[in-house]
Amino acid sequence: STNMAKSKFEYVRNFEADDTCLRNCYIVVRLDGRNFHKFAEQHKFTKPNDDRALGLMTRSARSVMGELEDIIIAYGQSDEFSFVFKRTSTLFKRRASKLMTHVASQFSSSYVFYWKDFFGEQPLLYPPGFDGRVVLYPSNRNLRDYLSWRQADCHINNLYNTVFWTLVQKGGLTTVQAEDRLKGTLAADKNEILFSDFDINYNNEPALHKKGTTLIWEKRDETVTKRMKRPDWRGGGRACDSQQEDGAGLSL
Ligand code: ATP
Ligand code: ATP
Ligand code: MG
Ligand code: MG
Ligand code: MG
Ligand code: MG
Repeated sequence: STNMAKSKFEYVRNFEADDTCLRNCYIVVRLDGRNFHKFAEQHKFTKPNDDRALGLMTRSARSVMGELEDIIIAYGQSDEFSFVFKRTSTLFKRRASKLMTHVASQFSSSYVFYWKDFFGEQPLLYPPGFDGRVVLYPSNRNLRDYLSWRQADCHINNLYNTVFWTLVQKGGLTTVQAEDRLKGTLAADKNEILFSDFDINYNNEPALHKKGTTLIWEKRDETVTKRMKRPDWRGGGRACDSQQEDGAGLSL
């Protein structure tokens, strides 16, 4: 019978690796756009920061948070986004590949789905992809340092890119000349170039560009109307009751 055939083949399931995430750890899934240097050029991203692209990344991250339970915080910058699952999560039995691929595919399909909301009539030229990885952090300190690390990356890149593109766009340098000019410079030197040559105070640059985006859930009261039968000693089946309940709303 087909059932016997199925059990004959089913041993292959045992070839699957166990990738259960260690209990009690925060599960972090980080996505990063594939080849977005090229994607940004082909889709005419404004340099150094295209706010449409950042908005689309954040919209896609919201979609991930809305579809997958247990994500408590997400952090994004450039073409990357990190999602942190609560330590006690048992979603997909904590299987790393399930968590990672659900995050990556929900994010990718949302990126395409919401493209128009941010880029209007400008066409999406090809289907973009995102890689994913899973990292476990056992302590609050480790998780905090992880997020600080990604934010420091954002800051360093943004400072470099801000000076680089100012040298090109306002200073008239070629990209090769701008790269040369910045070779070996420290953060203080870069701040100084911006300030003395272009009258730009880096501190006044938008926080979105300097620090990236954090998404968290906000507790808020929601009125939920439920219909319920109550045991009615007066006879007759009167129903209906409304009550206040705690809901959760997504806040940016
Ligand atoms: P890989 O596939 O290895 O990740 P990559 O080309 O995506 O390669 P990244 O290090 O991830 O390399 O860098 C992403 C690049 O995408 C940035 O260097 C920048 O050129 C571009 N980019 C991403 N988001 C934006 C944005 N909002 N505005 C302008 N450029 C962006
Ligand atoms: P899970 O998220 O656990 O995978 P699921 O609902 O996707 O849940 P599956 O075991 O993957 O469950 O089964 C996919 C279901 O999708 C099928 O049972 C069927 O109902 C539906 N489905 C998928 N492809 C088709 C198709 N081409 N035509 C009709 N129904 C389909
Ligand atoms: Mg990379
Ligand atoms: Mg990338
Ligand atoms: Mg990147
Ligand atoms: Mg399925």
